[in-house]
Amino acid sequence: MKICPLGTKPCCYEYIMPWRKEWTCETRMENKASACVFSFGVISDIQHADIENRLNYSQTCMRYYRNALALLKEAVDHWMDGDTSAIRPDFVVQLGDVLDGFNSEGGKDESLRILDVILNQFDRLPCTVHHLFGNHEFYNFSRVELMNSRLFSGAKFETTARDSECECFPEDSLSAGKSRAGGLATYYHFSPAPGFRVVILDSYSRSIIGHNDMCPIGQESLRLVRSVNKNEILNSPLGLKVSEKRFVAFNGGLGEKQMAWLENVLEGACLAKEKVILFGHIPIYPIHRDHTCLLWDYQEALKLVRSSPCVVALFTGHTHSYAYTVDEMSGIHFLNFPGVVEIPPGGNGFGTIAVYGDRLVLHGVGHVDDVVMKFPEQSMYQD
Ligand SMILES: [Zn+2]
Ligand SMILES: [Zn+2]
Repeated sequence: MKICPLGTKPCCYEYIMPWRKEWTCETRMENKASACVFSFGVISDIQHADIENRLNYSQTCMRYYRNALALLKEAVDHWMDGDTSAIRPDFVVQLGDVLDGFNSEGGKDESLRILDVILNQFDRLPCTVHHLFGNHEFYNFSRVELMNSRLFSGAKFETTARDSECECFPEDSLSAGKSRAGGLATYYHFSPAPGFRVVILDSYSRSIIGHNDMCPIGQESLRLVRSVNKNEILNSPLGLKVSEKRFVAFNGGLGEKQMAWLENVLEGACLAKEKVILFGHIPIYPIHRDHTCLLWDYQEALKLVRSSPCVVALFTGHTHSYAYTVDEMSGIHFLNFPGVVEIPPGGNGFGTIAVYGDRLVLHGVGHVDDVVMKFPEQSMYQD
């Protein structure tokens, strides 16, 4: 018989997690807000490759490509209850850049081999893993390949039709029935428990990488970045003003179609009095003073989430550094997870978040802090 690690009641949400049936909860809580509703694990930028350590592009940080796999294994062990104090998550979110672009130097076979090695670790978890697409996925695979790989986790959830402007998919895969995911958008949402909604965003709906050369979205994205960024190498923000630094090829945008979809999902969630937790690869809030790692259309995205009283938190990766802030205007929590690939042996950087009726409690490991995130006043619906 296992004891509920949170020591609270009720946490036996059998419809989410069969293993919770085994738990007994020591204390009965009178206050609904004090009961853990569900929990989830988060890890970002693993960027594993079977290569020696080397410095990042700007020669400022060492990347430990092989060690990253060991750190993922440790995170999975932790979530599997290797550590008795661990909270076992109902689902895990992998925020993108699960494998490094260097794998592509070994050809497609090497990219596929490394992807398998990584997914074998995630496969040990008895819960659903939600994978986001980062820039490094697109250095290894095309959008079509990714959408038909196990990295596309949206097929089983509430998604929408793929943007008809995107011409990356061959004609015969336009309907979802003909290929695994040809007809579907990459972004999706689901309700992990009554009163809550999770939204998985695609930070590269608009991007140079990922879309093929003939796709109007790829071409339009290239024009957009070139209109601002005059560097020969479009990954370089050299010479750009702070307000323009995000116009580099390793970033992307949500785009109008995804933005309209998100607005609709948030409206529905607000009407249903749900609280919404969002996940994206690229930050939409300039937590870091450096504006290089931001969505191209972050201002529109930020305006949208700020105007939705149901949004409580947004989790991202991509920058490789841990950062956390509460937006003064909305009370929304913005938290950026560190890049596992840049954490030296002996450390780690992932977290497990327990969700209560009035707050999220992040239990961080290594480079991730413990944080209590009270829900914004505006999200606390009065019955
Ligand atoms: Zn990364
Ligand atoms: Zn990235």
